[in-house]
Amino acid sequence: MTIEFKKIPNSGVDFEVKCEEITLVGNALKSDKTIVACKGKLIGTVEHTCDRCAEIFTLGVNEEVEVFASDGLYEDKEGEELLNVIEFFDGSLNFDTILQSELEALKSDYHYCGTCEQIQGV
Ligand SMILES: [Zn+2]
Repeated sequence: MTIEFKKIPNSGVDFEVKCEEITLVGNALKSDKTIVACKGKLIGTVEHTCDRCAEIFTLGVNEEVEVFASDGLYEDKEGEELLNVIEFFDGSLNFDTILQSELEALKSDYHYCGTCEQIQGV
């Protein structure tokens, strides 16, 4: 799902994209001339290799996400650095790209299977 930056209304636009068993649903709102704040939820399940015992298990996901999409190169202003910015260079905001990026971030975190969670008492 893509939308041209200039076509995003001031009232924002709802989006929903899916990749395998994960859905990203939320609302994209212009927060600056070239910055769009995408707030939403990452919901579903993802296959993950346990970071302790290397067993593959299904990880349940239900996370709030906040990503900023930049129309072109993002230059942080003085004292106003955004943490989670994705730059788009063709004038369109691609929500699938945002979902992929969030998935990568999720997978790079440590996650433990049910057995290991019990052992660790998490
Ligand atoms: Zn494990």
